[in-house]
Amino acid sequence: METILITGGMGFIGSHTCVELMEAGYSPIIVDDLSNSSIKVLDGIEAITKKRVPFYQLDVADFEALAQVFAQHTIDAVIHFAGFKAVGESKEKPLHYYCNNLNSTMSLLKCMDRFGVGRLVFSSSATVYDSMHHVLLTEETERWCTNPYGWTKFMSEQIISDHVATRPDASAVLLRYFNPVGAHESGLIGEAPNGVPQNLMPFVTQVAVGMRDKLSVFGGDYDTPDGSGVRDYIHVTDLARGHVAALAYAKEHPGCQAVNLGTGRGVSVLELVTTFERVNGVAIPYEITARRPGDAPMYYAETRRAEELLHWRAERSLEDMCRSAYHWQRKSMGLWEDPNERTR
Ligand code: UDP
Repeated sequence: METILITGGMGFIGSHTCVELMEAGYSPIIVDDLSNSSIKVLDGIEAITKKRVPFYQLDVADFEALAQVFAQHTIDAVIHFAGFKAVGESKEKPLHYYCNNLNSTMSLLKCMDRFGVGRLVFSSSATVYDSMHHVLLTEETERWCTNPYGWTKFMSEQIISDHVATRPDASAVLLRYFNPVGAHESGLIGEAPNGVPQNLMPFVTQVAVGMRDKLSVFGGDYDTPDGSGVRDYIHVTDLARGHVAALAYAKEHPGCQAVNLGTGRGVSVLELVTTFERVNGVAIPYEITARRPGDAPMYYAETRRAEELLHWRAERSLEDMCRSAYHWQRKSMGLWEDPNERTR
């Protein structure tokens, strides 16, 4: 059984990946400073998997603290999620983002080097692409970022790639996520944003449960089929399984490889809203407002490389994403009323 260190394992994608790793027979260890997550996530993971995952509360940028974890366990590979992720905040506090996200990546690589761990899966993002000028994004599409968060992903990719190039046996997969949404089907783990959600799906689920009056649809005059912005939404469980596939790939293939994780299908804001209303039987009041500065009109993933190299493809539908996101929102607020669900 391989032992996998997961940095940022208490976050939205990290926690789902931890569950899928355990289902696939891996033994995860979580490191997280809880700066943007809760210790309760560990209980959610345990309720799903019936196992308690070893957890260390520390900042990955703290090399000595991280080295102690490496010294205590025989780690076969690392999945690196830890990092700040709010695009808007990164524009207000660029240094905060560059220091944290880049120092974490470098501290982790140094630790891996010291302890002879050569396999890494990195949580990157489609935000590294120049999506203002390209719609179908392949791994070869020109890259350009419009905010410090994006640049930290771009630079971390470069640092990892340069490092791996100096180690003949080392391997890294840079997973470029499109828009992860939804939640584990149990409703026991999900996305828990702090304050006003900046992303579409958590805002929609908060409107659905009455926490917010209405959704602002940022822009209704884009050159897209219905005028609203188009993205490639991917179910977080599919995304999590992509990490399991990437670990297996990296074991057999030295070198550094970037791979998109998306569905390959573009969905507009309005299509997401109407699908959410239909599958959940709930109204989402909205108004069309001004475009959000920096938003691209439309982009989605070319998924061929993930299929060919990782033998992975997204399986869950937009309906599944909307249902599971709402289920999680209600359950986490104690609102879940379905008697079948209670007795399950
Ligand atoms: N969006 C919106 N209202 C919101 C949040 C987002 O209309 O309250 C739109 C946004 O303009 C984009 C899409 O939803 O077209 C996805 O935005 P999100 O912030 O979730 O992800 P992004 O692709 O911008 O990283």
